[in-house]
Amino acid sequence: SALPLCSRLPDDVKVSFEFFPPKTDKMAESLWAAVKRLEPLGPQFVSVTYGAGGSTRERTHDTVARIARETTLKAAAHLTCVDATREQVDDVARRYWDAGIRHIVALRGDSPESDGVYRPTPGGYAFAADLVEGLKKVADFEISVAAYPEPHPEAASPEADLDALKRKVDAGATRAITQFFFDVDVFNRFRDRAAAAGITVPIVPGILPVSNFATVTKFAGMCGASIPQWMAETFAGLDDDPDTRKLVAAMVAAQQCRALAAAGADQFHFYTLNRADLTYAICHVLGVRPPEPVPSPAMAEA
Ligand code: FAD
Repeated sequence: SALPLCSRLPDDVKVSFEFFPPKTDKMAESLWAAVKRLEPLGPQFVSVTYGAGGSTRERTHDTVARIARETTLKAAAHLTCVDATREQVDDVARRYWDAGIRHIVALRGDSPESDGVYRPTPGGYAFAADLVEGLKKVADFEISVAAYPEPHPEAASPEADLDALKRKVDAGATRAITQFFFDVDVFNRFRDRAAAAGITVPIVPGILPVSNFATVTKFAGMCGASIPQWMAETFAGLDDDPDTRKLVAAMVAAQQCRALAAAGADQFHFYTLNRADLTYAICHVLGVRPPEPVPSPAMAEA
């Protein structure tokens, strides 16, 4: 059989890009450069994350509103249940609706407490499924939710985790975006189990282009994603060589996406970390390109 990089791609690959709200002017500048670089690729939507305990509430709102105002992109806002009553969450959602934002990525969020144990806020939405139900009462939002090819660390069992996903879809979510993962078989098995459980919405693989392997190992440990041995071996010896690491990272993620596409995936959600270069290159390999060739930022400066 053909290697993933040689296999045929689906005709119409769709992508979406995730950003986080910037903390400083300098970070805002690099976020904006990334947004502008990725805009001509015509993503389905771009989304902006929401900090733990609503810590980024205003920055998330401002970033989403600015994208909606100043670009042709469809902007989606992440929203969580943490540290807020239902009324407070509903108010945030209403503000989005009034600002013309029609798509929410609805999440439970994580505990802001030092013991890390999640406890629902009194008077708040307890789980993401409750949030989806509440948002649908506020307005007819398009809603995406999270899914976990390697079960969520707090799930009682993989079956209970799938039930939780099913409840989110039954409450009105029309897309599930996965936590990042590196093993393509893990994703394919999860997609098949979700289909067997009657989940019919698209399960969109969440792709984390790895440029700093040490950081990714840390993130993966926190969210229960496994790092295959081959990946550790691929990046071994490159700790002090960021240039080579970036080239290798593009190759690894492009292979992962092509292998997913060969198994039927035609939508991809990229955790961009507010940088465009790896995501842009991987999209190119997936056939997602601007209508007219665009000079790279380096060429534009030359
Ligand atoms: P849920 O679907 O509510 O599930 C949480 C856990 O509870 C699971 O273990 C589930 O099995 C279990 N569960 C669900 N319902 C019940 C029930 N009724 N009884 C008992 N157990 C139940 N975090 C942020 O803070 N901000 C973000 O912007 C953000 N964006 C994200 C985007 C994506 C695509 C993904 C995959 C994750 C994101 N997260 C974000 C992280 C997310 O908040 C955490 O993973 C969180 O721990 C779980 O959120 P959830 O929406 O999946 O929760």
